[in-house]
Amino acid sequence: MDSLPLPREDLRGLAPYGAPQIDVPVRLNTNENPFAPSEEMSQAVGHAVAEATRGLNRYPDREAHALRADLADYLAEESGVRVPAEWIWPANGSNEVMMHIFGAFGGPGRLAMGFAPTYSMYEQYARETFTKYRTVNRGPDFELDAAMVMAAMIGGSPDIVVLTSPNNPTGTAMPLDVVTATCAMSTGIVVVDEAYAEFRRPGTTSSLALLEANPRLIVTRTMSKAFALAGGRIGYAIARPEVIEALRIVRLPYHLSAVSQAVARVALAHRTELLAQVALLRSERDELVAWLRAAGLTAVDSDANFILFGRFADRHRAWQELLDRGVLVREAGPEGWLRVSVGTPDENATFRTALAEVFALDGMMEPGEGSAG
Ligand SMILES: *Cc1c(COP(=O)(O)O)cnc(C)c1O
Repeated sequence: MDSLPLPREDLRGLAPYGAPQIDVPVRLNTNENPFAPSEEMSQAVGHAVAEATRGLNRYPDREAHALRADLADYLAEESGVRVPAEWIWPANGSNEVMMHIFGAFGGPGRLAMGFAPTYSMYEQYARETFTKYRTVNRGPDFELDAAMVMAAMIGGSPDIVVLTSPNNPTGTAMPLDVVTATCAMSTGIVVVDEAYAEFRRPGTTSSLALLEANPRLIVTRTMSKAFALAGGRIGYAIARPEVIEALRIVRLPYHLSAVSQAVARVALAHRTELLAQVALLRSERDELVAWLRAAGLTAVDSDANFILFGRFADRHRAWQELLDRGVLVREAGPEGWLRVSVGTPDENATFRTALAEVFALDGMMEPGEGSAG
């Protein structure tokens, strides 16, 4: 060990990011889609991978042309916004897309800004690219409005503003006028992370509609959640071609394997069955929010596939008590809150039974919580 050079000063003592991967019956801690691919889809993936294997002696299509065209078709269907395939940039999860964005538009001496509580990975993208990162708090109900963004930008426009909608871990979506106002005020890049867009409630609009008018806007999406493809690692950015050109500069060549591209295309071809499950998860989510509130707990309105709820006097104890009952949730957001991903109807029922036991325990809830049930 003595011969090992010390790592970068700013990395010493840090732990790698990641929620515990604990093998318990009900895992509701990482916002995965609880439905495994159908037998039919898994067969189709097998065939597509076998086909891709025949060309594995060659590097993959560096520009993922076929996948980008499929994604463009899907987006037109999903959001009513038709963008050319060249406006789409796929990579290994939206995590890698964000690294490309920070690599191209962040960097030493540059500033990125997010609105807390929010996705903790933004801090890591900033760290890895030597970008400064600052968070500004959301409102009391975790909402974000145009005035708050403007106030945050009074000292000067950050090089990257990240607006997460629906936000993780709160589930909060933001009105489009916040994005429009941010784009108008910013001299840098504005990223709207729409990882959970497909779970939004009726009346919530995607920022895709704003791309035409805002040349510095980037919308990011992922197949990890709605498409039940977290293990496939496919995410993508949608932006004007000049922005995509910048992302192409910092990507590693052949970043997206031929196998990944093939798997993603099969999932897109199965979107009817996959998105039917999203509809089921949305209604399960709404029922779960109503159940939590009827039990006297606080649950934040959610446009995503998870719910932030509380408040617990000692949330770690509540987390452990749920785990002892076979249900894994996430300690996320401010002190007192827990986040639960929406599972299958059976998993949600198990969660409700376990939670009812837990919040009945002495001293579990903050005073005033959990009293109505
Ligand atoms: C889950 C999640 C992502 C998706 O990450 P992938 O790398 O595509 O799996 C992106 N942003 C937020 C806010 C998320 O919660």
